[in-house]
Amino acid sequence: MIPFFDIDKRIEAAAEKAETLCGGQFKKIEKIAEYNQFKVQKAFIDNSISETHFVPTTGYGYGDRGRDTLDKVWAQVLGAEDALVRHNFVSGTHTLAVALYGVLRPGDNMLCVTGTPYDTIHGVIGISGSGMGSLKDFGINYSEVPLKNGRPDLEAIKNAVNADTTMVYIQRSRGYELRPSLTVEDVEEIVKTAKASNPGVIVMVDNCYGEFTQTREPCEVGADLIAGSMIKNAGGGIARTGGYIAGRSDLVEKCAYRLTTPGLGKEVGASLGTNRELYMGLFYAPHTVGEALKSAVFISALFSGFGYDTTPAYNAERGDIVQCLGLENEESLVAFCRGIQSGSPVDSFLTPEPWDMPGYDSKVVMAAGAFTLGSSIELSAVAPIREPFYAWIQGGLNYPSAKLCTLLAAQQMLESGLLKGVD
Ligand SMILES: *Cc1c(COP(=O)(O)O)cnc(C)c1O
Repeated sequence: MIPFFDIDKRIEAAAEKAETLCGGQFKKIEKIAEYNQFKVQKAFIDNSISETHFVPTTGYGYGDRGRDTLDKVWAQVLGAEDALVRHNFVSGTHTLAVALYGVLRPGDNMLCVTGTPYDTIHGVIGISGSGMGSLKDFGINYSEVPLKNGRPDLEAIKNAVNADTTMVYIQRSRGYELRPSLTVEDVEEIVKTAKASNPGVIVMVDNCYGEFTQTREPCEVGADLIAGSMIKNAGGGIARTGGYIAGRSDLVEKCAYRLTTPGLGKEVGASLGTNRELYMGLFYAPHTVGEALKSAVFISALFSGFGYDTTPAYNAERGDIVQCLGLENEESLVAFCRGIQSGSPVDSFLTPEPWDMPGYDSKVVMAAGAFTLGSSIELSAVAPIREPFYAWIQGGLNYPSAKLCTLLAAQQMLESGLLKGVD
């Protein structure tokens, strides 16, 4: 019995069946979360974290021990030489941009080997827009190797990387595509391939949505530089803003010169009392990512049980927390999002409507009822209203809350006469 909410018996029965199917996958996820929790905790202990690390600094922020030690803790967790963890990064895009501007110079050649990257990076690279100071405006050349059947094309990568290639860029998550995410093992293959062609090439990974989904991180398999957002996996649902860059210490130093100024780098930047939440967010991140993964697996199992296309499949290996759901028509996307929204802890009373969003060429309907605006480690769904009518779903601070939202989404579809697989 689902208490407090009116869920149709048939949905409840389907949910029970789905949960049984997910049992093995849930166990695997719990094992990964446990391993990562131990890894994080070891880093806290090795660095003797104490309350003094949470003390706020102001002004220039000289000698902020909490900030400097947080970098060390993160570097250890990520298997990197150094890290730059700052609330000053306004988003994932900003963090990735700082990393790219930090290490690339005029005349350098950047090669993206996972097809065209995430939409918001286009303006940074100069794939779209002009006159805004993109990498292209600064004389940095860009090219890409397309995916082959949604997977990295190692043969083409081998041929595309040469002595002139400065950076090989990898996007680990599927973003808003239907291709599979890259596992750390996939990243390792690309690193080996790229470095065989040019041992000096910098391999950079957009690690957004990937952190703690597996037991290893990209730097442990040879990535030179990685970056991600604190309002996704890395912040554990606790951090309210920020991002991180990690990797080779010479490269992280250059990124710090870009974030602040040449000469000052990591030495400045008042933490203003944000350290505690960044530490606590990291402490929670392995668990929260595990809950988000379980939520994705459950959504996949439940809706594939109803007869919808889901990718990844509930029992597939995952390198990110994103779940795609093919709902076949506009009405179902809207009903699904309304159901998700109706169960959110924040803004449950809002009714999602399709609307024209900047950067999209079709209307988009989304559900997000989050404690942190735009946070996508909290359960959220985004669905462009166009063929093939898929919703991209991610997050879930805890499994029961995401399960409830999912049941309400199915219920909303049922009440609108749209849900398949029940009679
Ligand atoms: C979210 C995301 C970004 C950009 O992060 P924002 O915080 O939205 O700016 C970049 N790449 C990938 C793969 C992402 O998932």
